Amino acid sequence: MISRTTAGAFVALVFVLASCAPSSAVMVVSRNEEVSIGKQVEKDVIKQYGGVYNDPAMNARVQRVGRQCAAVSTRTDVTYTYKVLNSDVINAFAAPGGPVLITKKLVQVLNTDDQLAFVLAHETGHIAAQHGRKAINRAVLAQGIASLLLRKAGESAKIGVGIMYTLYDRGYSREQEYEADSYGALFMTRAKFNAEGGVKALAKLGMRREKGVNKYLSTHPDVPDRISRIARAYGITPEREQALIKEAQTEK
Ligand SMILES: [Zn+2]
Repeated sequence: MISRTTAGAFVALVFVLASCAPSSAVMVVSRNEEVSIGKQVEKDVIKQYGGVYNDPAMNARVQRVGRQCAAVSTRTDVTYTYKVLNSDVINAFAAPGGPVLITKKLVQVLNTDDQLAFVLAHETGHIAAQHGRKAINRAVLAQGIASLLLRKAGESAKIGVGIMYTLYDRGYSREQEYEADSYGALFMTRAKFNAEGGVKALAKLGMRREKGVNKYLSTHPDVPDRISRIARAYGITPEREQALIKEAQTEK
């Protein structure tokens, strides 16, 4: 049993959190709309990235690691899927409402399951935190309440797909990337992966700066900062962090 004072403080805290969070905006994009927009975006990205890569072993690995992250996600009202894109560009992407996509090249770079888990858990985190859905929601609300009430079926889907293309090109905000890292770290721990894989995965992504090849880096900035945050969150010392970065550099 909690005392009245504690309960009051708790309610006040929830209120403060709710009023600070951008999610306090009215949510007008339904889960079904989010899922259907996500499916459309996924289809287009697959087409743009040379289709799905049909390597049974690689697909099995990505799905196994992905499902382990999905199973411990804080968001349970969507179905997470994990697919490999037939592309030599380094990138990973989360569409709203469940689909996670990762390129064959990035899977090859992430040569341990701990490293792969970090990237997949991070993308799963974007979906769990509903970053895509919130961006679509903001765009729909920006159209004004009148057009919102009058909007025809499919209109918000069109707006949604458009806004997701922009996000796909520029990435989410820095705060949302940090948030996805926090979710990713949580899911990794819950699924019993080694957090050091996160430091190594980011170190590898930061190293591969080839223009045009590393799309991930242009949509996920501040890699050194993210490495330090992850390391601190796990109690990895600065010395160990440096050692892990060195190790990552000698791996393929
Ligand atoms: Zn991200």
